[in-house]
Amino acid sequence: MDSDKPRNFIQHIIENDLAEGTVKQVVTRFPPEPNGYLHIGHAKSICLNFGLAEQYGGVCNLRFDDTNPETESEEFVNAIIADVRWLGFQWDGEVRYASDYFEQLHAWAVHLIQAGKAYVCELTPDQMREYRGTLTEPGRDSPFRERSAAENLALLEAMRAGEIEEGKMVLRARIDMASPNINLRDPVLYRVKRMAHHRSGARWNIYPSYDFAHGQEDAIEGVTHSICTLEFADHRPLYDWLLDNLPVPARPRQYEFGRLNLSYTVTSKRKLKQLVEEGHVDGWDDPRMPTLAGLRRRGVTPAAIRAFCDSLAVAKTDGVVDMGQFEHFIRQDLNDNAPRALCVLRPLKVTLGNWPAGKVETLHLANHPQRPELGSRELPFGATLYIDRDDFSTDAALSRKQFKRLVLGDWVRLRGAYVIRADDVVRDASGALSEVLASVVPDTLGADPPAGIKPRGVIHWVAAENAVDCAVRLYERLFSAPEPDAGDGDFRAGINPDSLVTLTGCKAEANLGRAAPEVTFQFEREGYFCRDSFCGDRDNGNRLVFNRTIALRDASPKPAGTKPPGTEG
Ligand code: ATP
Ligand code: MG
Repeated sequence: MDSDKPRNFIQHIIENDLAEGTVKQVVTRFPPEPNGYLHIGHAKSICLNFGLAEQYGGVCNLRFDDTNPETESEEFVNAIIADVRWLGFQWDGEVRYASDYFEQLHAWAVHLIQAGKAYVCELTPDQMREYRGTLTEPGRDSPFRERSAAENLALLEAMRAGEIEEGKMVLRARIDMASPNINLRDPVLYRVKRMAHHRSGARWNIYPSYDFAHGQEDAIEGVTHSICTLEFADHRPLYDWLLDNLPVPARPRQYEFGRLNLSYTVTSKRKLKQLVEEGHVDGWDDPRMPTLAGLRRRGVTPAAIRAFCDSLAVAKTDGVVDMGQFEHFIRQDLNDNAPRALCVLRPLKVTLGNWPAGKVETLHLANHPQRPELGSRELPFGATLYIDRDDFSTDAALSRKQFKRLVLGDWVRLRGAYVIRADDVVRDASGALSEVLASVVPDTLGADPPAGIKPRGVIHWVAAENAVDCAVRLYERLFSAPEPDAGDGDFRAGINPDSLVTLTGCKAEANLGRAAPEVTFQFEREGYFCRDSFCGDRDNGNRLVFNRTIALRDASPKPAGTKPPGTEG
């Protein structure tokens, strides 16, 4: 976290707590529910919680909020652990689980019953809703509210033992059915779920609600600042009530901040799950997904995600951040760090008629134009090479300004190599362009051509001598709708049908054949690409496949009145 940045409201609270001595060491936690993969919104919470702990010399726990066995799994637990680590954060001690506290939570439920502050209720879910009242009308007391402690304890025991059917009984806190805050109208603490849990197995037939579990878990772990998103603000009085009425070992405080919403995507786990299950994408780690696993497979770096998250306001309001802002941080990081490479996406063969037969020269190209410490690489240069079809035209009427590439009868420089001239073309039986016959201007390697020869521009190329074939996946935003979530329409209507275009038969410099997954290169003049990490049969075995992380520049239309946060080349 940047120490020069103005403090956000949580930092003010923490600094105050430390100054007054009410808190000795800051303890935060990141509490995901293992019912899906983490997404970019979670990254904001992770960066905030781990960042605050780091900034104030405290610690941050990773705790799974695993209280809903029906939607949770080991797969999600493992993916979340990998993602937090990949983002670059280390939690304090072991990974923690709400399920490790089930005995203690149950003991506290018993405590509340004994104190006359909880009861077993047998209203049906429909009756519960009816008794709860509305925002404008108070609720009514449940007919089961006055049960004796002994009876409540016996019923809770029966619930626990699996003797009660699901939906027949719940344990409720006994607070105030007339409270203006609906969360305090005798909220549910435990429900029957006769279902095995991915960690605690078949031991339990009752599971605590989020509200009953969360604050108490925070107290067990000595969490000082329990930071969550705004939708929990109305739950805070309940969070406090439970802590005030239980013999907990510590007294955490809950603070709420605005969640991150990003345009052109969705950050609801339920919707992301739907995209996966309905096959709109190729899994949770599909490079178009806003999941951390997807971003990673796409070639976005943890540093870019952290820089983006640190740039976000931590405020008490929700807002929508423009995707362009995230993309700005992705480009900035890759522009600074990605090694350069040459790859021709739509190859067109070029033969240099005046190049000495059989001669192959070794050229040295810098890996990064501004960073000599990143070294250079060798590329062969011979009589046959490939350029991009889009970099050639037979239309001599194209002005130099309109088309700074190769035109029949004119000159262009090959990046890091010679100036060439297009002399003629070869067409196949159907009349389609199949080859350009060209000539090299001698002595133009690293030197200007003679007077009178003015190359139109610089284009990229790959020598036939060491080209490797690869496939390239051109990813665009998954949604073409700026706010696919907005309104009550179906968010799937905003899916961009062209979010993936796959090109095959691309020609890459041979060095790229040895590229490791997740290392992003700038394919000069094309964009940023990384080798796909998936080597299964989704792409014909081990074919060399590159995913486009992002294009060089943002070509998407700007919403009126906004200005791009910055561009670079
Ligand atoms: P669910 O509806 O499944 O609970 P969730 O998005 O709240 O979904 P959790 O696993 O409970 O998922 O979230 C873990 C933590 O991440 C919580 O503290 C939550 O507040 C925070 N979080 C989730 N989504 C966002 C978001 N978009 N922006 C910031 N923080 C988020
Ligand atoms: Mg949640």
